[in-house]
Amino acid sequence: MWIEPCEDTECFMRGLIRRNPGESEFHQAVREFVETVMPFVKANPKYRESQILERMTEPDRIIIFRVPWEDDNRNVRVNRAWRVQFNNSIGPYKGGLRFHPTVTQSVLKFLGFEQVFKNSLTGLPMGGAKGGANFNPKGKSDREIMRFCQSMMIELHRHVGEDTDVPAGDIGVGGREISYLFGQYKRLENRFVGVLTGKGLQFGGSLIRTEATGYGNVYFCENMLNHAGDSLNGKTVTVSGSGNVATYCVEKATLLGANVVTMSDSSGFIHDPNGIDAEKLAFVKDLKEVRRGRIHEYTEKFSGATFHQGTRPWNVPCEVAFPCATQNELSADEARTLISNGVKAISEGANMPTELAGVHEFLQAGVLFGPAKAANAGGVAVSGLEQSQNAQRLSWSREEVDQKLHSIMKDIHEKCVQYGQDDGFVNYVRGANIAGFLKIADAMLAYGNV
Ligand code: NDP
Repeated sequence: MWIEPCEDTECFMRGLIRRNPGESEFHQAVREFVETVMPFVKANPKYRESQILERMTEPDRIIIFRVPWEDDNRNVRVNRAWRVQFNNSIGPYKGGLRFHPTVTQSVLKFLGFEQVFKNSLTGLPMGGAKGGANFNPKGKSDREIMRFCQSMMIELHRHVGEDTDVPAGDIGVGGREISYLFGQYKRLENRFVGVLTGKGLQFGGSLIRTEATGYGNVYFCENMLNHAGDSLNGKTVTVSGSGNVATYCVEKATLLGANVVTMSDSSGFIHDPNGIDAEKLAFVKDLKEVRRGRIHEYTEKFSGATFHQGTRPWNVPCEVAFPCATQNELSADEARTLISNGVKAISEGANMPTELAGVHEFLQAGVLFGPAKAANAGGVAVSGLEQSQNAQRLSWSREEVDQKLHSIMKDIHEKCVQYGQDDGFVNYVRGANIAGFLKIADAMLAYGNV
């Protein structure tokens, strides 16, 4: 009997929710994708008849394992880790590792799913994956972090490799953690290969990788504004987060003439109407990366700035907003506040920071809305460039990598315009989803029923 594929989002989502119960973040990411891609699939029988959406929303495999480690007081501790290898149709799996107590299978499936289309948009040969552990790095000593990373790699090394799966950083996984993970991989395998990206410059890392997600997000936003006859120069900008993505987003936006007035962490946000210039940002970098302190300490150092505990920066009037902390950090109510305060553009540095109802608000209001899978693809793009440099045993200059990042973000913007243009307004969500989908779908069709 011929099984009729679902032809509307609600029918499709009912099946997906039944097959993946309780995974709300995964449901949300798929719904955002299917809402825009379903009409395209419906209009193209070759995709519809091959059940392509059903196949694409099922990961290739999920590896789940125990990570036992010992804390500094010699207590035995245990965490759970995952690697979600979502889709390798167009290249080896690629995607970050997240260490955070909120990590669940649902979170990693949503991130892995998004990663598939994001990597496709970069134009580089990378499949999509994501991994991590429900480990909380906050308050842990360097030695504890090292022991955790080494223990995690004892299992993970069997499943990764330069032509199989190449992890990178994400929340809670920065240069320190990647170094511990890479050091352990090298010991276990006795091979020096590009199995992880975001490595130190002394051992195969790429210039600009640290800055790439934040810089790329600003380049994407500047492309959206330029396309609409505007620019970041002179704009008041709000940013959330104070980690890797947020820091370099603030740096590049300021270099392009914007006045960035907020940053945040999980305890609240700081508002500095005078702008977070290079000197102030250097303080934040040292505070968060070296001293591992809290964002409120900014107000003790710089007069005129205020700290707002337990709240997010979206009620501060701005023309451009860059959510760069975590998923679902911008609600529909906050979207309405931003719109009534005259926001012109939102560019997502974090993955899925805007709740779906908030995305709908922005699109209905005609705000330029850069979805994560397009706007924050610069990080994984430069990771792809790090893989190329490792394979060639070469290191490219800062200028060369930055120039490539620039042109990749421009290309992604053009693809979004190509598939998202509608009566003069560009729906970047639809554009990114369809452009990302096409390459994966065509590869899967070519492989047959896989
Ligand atoms: P970091 O760990 O460097 O920084 C995360 C920042 O977000 C910190 O300021 C942290 O505050 C804040 N944060 C984390 N969780 C929460 C929460 N539940 N509520 C409020 N604030 C929170 O991570 P990254 O900068 O690397 O990643 C940020 C986002 O960007 C994530 O969504 C990630 O998936 C995405 N991303 C990252 C890429 C990369 O190259 N690093 C690439 C593409 C996307 P605190 O210090 O208090 O925890």
